[in-house]
Amino acid sequence: MKYFPAFFDLAAQPVLIVGAGEVALRKLALLEKCGARVTVVAPQVHAGIQARAAAGTLRLLTREFEPDDLERVRLAIVATSRRALNRWIAKLADRRGIPVNVVDDREASRFIVPAIVDRDPVTVAVCTAGTSPVLARRLRERLEAFFPQRFGELALWLADIRRQAVVKLRDTAARRRYFEDVIDGPAARRLIEGDRRGAERIAQQFLASTAQAPPPRGEVTLVGAGPGDPELLTLKALRALQDADVVLYDRLVSSAVLDMARRDALRICVGKAAHQPSTAQADIHALLIEHALAGRRVVRLKGGDPFVFGRGGEELQALAAAGIAFSVVPGITAAIGAAAYAGIPLTHRQHAHAVTFVTGHADEPGQEPNWAALVQPGQTVVFYMGLARIEHISRELQAHGAPASFPAALVAQATLPDQRVVNGTLATIASLAATAKLASPALLVIGEVTALSSQLGWFSNAALAAERHQIA
Ligand code: SAH
Repeated sequence: MKYFPAFFDLAAQPVLIVGAGEVALRKLALLEKCGARVTVVAPQVHAGIQARAAAGTLRLLTREFEPDDLERVRLAIVATSRRALNRWIAKLADRRGIPVNVVDDREASRFIVPAIVDRDPVTVAVCTAGTSPVLARRLRERLEAFFPQRFGELALWLADIRRQAVVKLRDTAARRRYFEDVIDGPAARRLIEGDRRGAERIAQQFLASTAQAPPPRGEVTLVGAGPGDPELLTLKALRALQDADVVLYDRLVSSAVLDMARRDALRICVGKAAHQPSTAQADIHALLIEHALAGRRVVRLKGGDPFVFGRGGEELQALAAAGIAFSVVPGITAAIGAAAYAGIPLTHRQHAHAVTFVTGHADEPGQEPNWAALVQPGQTVVFYMGLARIEHISRELQAHGAPASFPAALVAQATLPDQRVVNGTLATIASLAATAKLASPALLVIGEVTALSSQLGWFSNAALAAERHQIA
C-alpha cells in the first residue's frame, strides 16, 4: 500500500492554499467544512474566493507566494496553474515537514486527496493511488448510490442512543449485538426513512428486551469456504464471517477468504496441511465447544464444502453431544470449482453419466477404494488428496482394466490465480505431474471429459500467460 489512509482533524488549524482558481475554491470549501483556518495566497483571485474573504471566513493575501507563508502551517495545498512553481512550493513545504498536496501532480505531493462520499459525520474515501481517477470516480458513484442520504443522521443517532446502551448493557459483546440488530433491523430502516420517533421506539424496546435476556448462547456455524477464489463464497458464508467472534480455519482456506472475516474476530488456525503439525481433531472439538460455551459466535471455516472430505460430520457430532447449537453453510467443493475453472464438465451426454468423488489418501491399509467400480465406463472420477499417491492410483486403475490411454487431468490450486492444469493419460499423468512440479492442493480427474479442457478451459492468469509465452 503506497498511501497510508488517515483522516485529519484540522479544526482551527492553519492551512495554506496557494492559488485561487476554481480548484482552489473546491478545496477551500472542503477545508472550511472541517473548520480549518485557511489562508489563500495568489495574485489573482476567483470571485467565489473573494466573496468568502469578504465574509471573513478566510485570510486572503492578494500577491505572489513567499516562502514565509509556510510559517506555522499544518497542511498545504498548491493549486497554481504553473507546474514548476507548484513543485518549488511543494519542495519547500516538504522540507519543513508540512504535508503538501499539489493538485493534479501526484509525484510532487506528499498526500493525495481521495474521492469522497460525504454523509457527514460518515465519510467514505476512495483512493486508487493515482492509478485511475476514472475508476475512483466510478467507485464513488456506486458508493453514493449505496449510502442513503440520511446515513450521517443514522451515525449521529447511534451516538445518541449509545449512552443509554452503555448504561444498560455492561457486556461489550451484548452491546455489539444490540447495535448490530439496531443497524441491520427495522430501527435503522425507520431512521433512514425519516421516522426518528419510530426508530427510537423500536430501539428502546430492543434495549429493554436485550438487557433482560439471558446471556447469549454461543453457536457454531460450519462454513464451506470454497476452493480458494473468494468470490466463490456464498452470501451466507460472507454474512457468517462478518458476524463471527471467532474463526477457526484450516490451512486450505485462502487468505483472501479469511480477509472477509470481521476485522476484530479472533482467528485460530487449526492446521491440517500434509506433513505438518496440525491440531488434533479432538482438540478442534474442544476449542469449538469452549468458545461456544463462552457465548461466542464461532465460525468453523473449512476449504471447499465441509461435508466433502472435511470431517464436518464428526465436528457436528461432537457439538451435538455437547448440546451446542450449530448450522451448516455449504461451500463449493474443490471438484466442482476445479471442473468449472479448468473447463472439465463433470458429466456430459456423450462421455459421462455419473461422477464419483473419492479420496486418494488411504489412512490405513485395507482402506483402498473399490478400484473395479472406479474403472466402469461412462463416469468421471475425481480423486481428492491423490497427488502423493498418483502413481499408485494410475497403476491400480490400469490393473483393474482401464486402458493406459484413458484421459486424466490434474488441477492444482484450482480457482486461484496460480491454478495449473496438466492433461495426460493414465500412463503419463504421474510423470507429467512430476515434471510440472505440481504442488498440493491438487485434484486428479479421470475420465473422457478431461480431454475437453484444452477446448473449454477459460480461466487464465498472468502466471499462465507467462508460462505459455516461455513455451512458445
Ligand atoms: N472439504 C474440501 C476437501 C478437503 S480434502 C472440499 O470440499 O474441497 C483436501 C483436498 O481437497 C486436497 O488434497 C485437494 O485434493 C483438494 N483441494 C482443495 N482445494 C483445492 C484447490 N484449490 N485445488 C485443487 N484441489 C483442492
